[in-house]
Amino acid sequence: MDFDVVIIGSGVGGGAVALSLMPTGARILLIERGPRLPREPQNRDAEAVFVEKRYRSTETWFDGRGQPFRPGQYYFVGGHTKFYGTAMFRFRERDFEAVEHEEGVSPAWPIRYSDLEPYYAQAERLFGVRGRAGDDPTEPPRSGPYPHAPVPHEPISADLAARMQALGLHPSMMPAAIDFGDGGRCERCGTCDAFPCLIDAKNDAETCLVNPALRQPNVTLWTESLVSRLLTDETGKRVVAAQVTRKGNAQSELVHAPLFVLAAGAINSSVLLQRSATSRHPHGLANSSGVVGRHYMNHNCTAFLTIDARRVNETRFPKTISINDFYFGGTASRHPLGNLQLLGKIQEPMLRGPMSWAPRPVRAWIARHSIDWYVMSEDLPHPESTVRPRGEDSIEMRWYRTNMRAHRRWVDTTRRLLRDAGLGIVLSRPFGEDTPSHQCGTARFGTDPATSALDPYCKAWDHDNLYVVDASFFPSSAALNPALTVAAQALRVGEHLRGIVRQ
Ligand SMILES: Cc1cc2nc3c(=O)[nH]c(=O)nc-3n(C[C@H](O)[C@H](O)[C@H](O)COP(=O)(O)OP(=O)(O)OC[C@H]3O[C@@H](n4cnc5c(N)ncnc54)[C@H](O)[C@@H]3O)c2cc1C
Repeated sequence: MDFDVVIIGSGVGGGAVALSLMPTGARILLIERGPRLPREPQNRDAEAVFVEKRYRSTETWFDGRGQPFRPGQYYFVGGHTKFYGTAMFRFRERDFEAVEHEEGVSPAWPIRYSDLEPYYAQAERLFGVRGRAGDDPTEPPRSGPYPHAPVPHEPISADLAARMQALGLHPSMMPAAIDFGDGGRCERCGTCDAFPCLIDAKNDAETCLVNPALRQPNVTLWTESLVSRLLTDETGKRVVAAQVTRKGNAQSELVHAPLFVLAAGAINSSVLLQRSATSRHPHGLANSSGVVGRHYMNHNCTAFLTIDARRVNETRFPKTISINDFYFGGTASRHPLGNLQLLGKIQEPMLRGPMSWAPRPVRAWIARHSIDWYVMSEDLPHPESTVRPRGEDSIEMRWYRTNMRAHRRWVDTTRRLLRDAGLGIVLSRPFGEDTPSHQCGTARFGTDPATSALDPYCKAWDHDNLYVVDASFFPSSAALNPALTVAAQALRVGEHLRGIVRQ
C-alpha cells in the first residue's frame, strides 16, 4: 500500500499537518489507533465518564516503582482534545527562553515566540478561539485580535473576577475554543472539561482539523489501526514503511511512503520510536542523542475546591477566569510560580474517589456549591524522567518530579488569594501520575543533534524523511495548557513540508 505522506495519530499535531498538506493534492494517509468517539448520552454523564471510566484506555502501564496503573489516555479520532477543557493559551515570550526556576533552569527553545506567532494566529482561527487581549500582564504580543469575543462570565465568575481585581490582581478572560454565541452550538450543558462533547460544540482536533482535511479525496483516514513499528532502509537514514494492524485483520501490513509524520502523542510516539530499534539504531529511531523517551514532562497540578456557602454555583461554563500575576513570580516569589484557572464544574460522582469518607449528601452539597480551580506550575525536564516500552504492549513511565517546592509555594499563595477573595477551601488535591494530560518533552527539538532528537522543524536529525509533531518536541513545559502550541508548531512544520511535498 503506497501513499505520498503517512501521518500516525489524528490529534492536534497529526490533524494540523494533514490539513496543511491537504491542498498539495498529495495522497495522505492518516492512521489512528482509536475509533470515532461515539456521540451518545453517556458523553454527558459524570458517572459514565469518571466512575466507569468509559472512554479511558484499558491499557495497564507501570510506574517507576513497578506498580501497575490504568493511564488517563484517550484513543479516538481527535486524540486528547476530545476530552480537553478548550483552554487555548499561547505560551509567553519568556517561555521560549531559558528561565531560572527555584529548582533548575527551564531550557530555551530553538525558536522564539516571534517564529511561532503567525502560526498561533492561524491555529486560533482554525479552532475558533474566543478571548480578549489586554487584561493579562504576561500576554505576548499579537498580530491581531482573537477571532471571536470571549465566552462571557456567568454571575458567580463575574463577581469573583471583580473581587480579584479589588485585591489588585489581573484576572483575564480565559481563551476558549468553543462554538459559542449567536448561531453557535454550545448549550452550556455543564460538562466540557474532561468530557467529550455530544453535539460537537467543542472545537477540537477532529472537528477543526481532521474533518476539514477529509473533505478532499486525497486525504484518507484509517481508524482502529495501530502502528507498531517504523521500518528503515538499509542505510538507516530513511523510514520506508509503517507496520500497521487494522481492526479485524489478524496480520499486520506495511504502508510505504516517502514521508512519515509521527504524531501519536508524546508518550506513544517516543515508545514507537524505541520499539522500532534495529542493529543500526539499537536505542530506537531518531535516538542517536539518547534523548528519546527522556525528559518526560507533564505539569505540576493541584485541583482546589472552594466554597461560597451562601449560594449554589449554577455556572454552566466555568472556564472563564485565568490569573497569571504570579506566572513569573511577581510579588510572591523570586522564581516563577505558575497559572491559576477555573476548572470544569465538579459533580458529585467526581468526588467519590477523593471524598469517599464523606456521605453522599455531603458530597452532593459540596458539588452544588463548589467553585473549582486548577493550579498549574512548570515541570522541568529531567533526563531520568523516562518513558520506555515494557514488553509487547505496555509502557513504563518514571515521572521524576521536579520543581515541587515552587508548586507548593504556588498552592499556598493560591490558598491565601482565594481566602482573601472570600472563598473557603474544602479540598486541594494534586493530580497523580496516572493523569498524563499535558504530556510532552520525550523527543525534544533543538539546534544540536547531540542533545536533541529533532531539528527546529521537528525533522529527526537521524532520518531524512521523519518528522515528529505532537507534544514530544517541547524542550520545556511552560505552565500553560499545551494544545495551541502543539497546533502552532504543527502548522509551521506543515507549511515547511508543503515545499518538500510539491518538489
Ligand atoms: C482531560 C484533559 C483535559 C485537557 N485540557 C486541555 C486544555 O484545556 N487545553 C489544552 O491546551 N490542553 C488540554 N489538554 C491537553 C491536550 O489535549 C493535549 O496537549 C493535546 O491534545 C496533545 O495533542 P497531540 O497531538 O500531541 O497528541 P494526542 O492528542 O495524544 O494525539 C495522538 C493521537 O495518536 C493516536 N495514536 C497513539 N498511538 C498510536 C499508534 N501507535 N498508532 C496509531 N495511532 C496512535 C492516539 O489515539 C491519538 O489520537 C487536556 C488533556 C486532557 C486529557
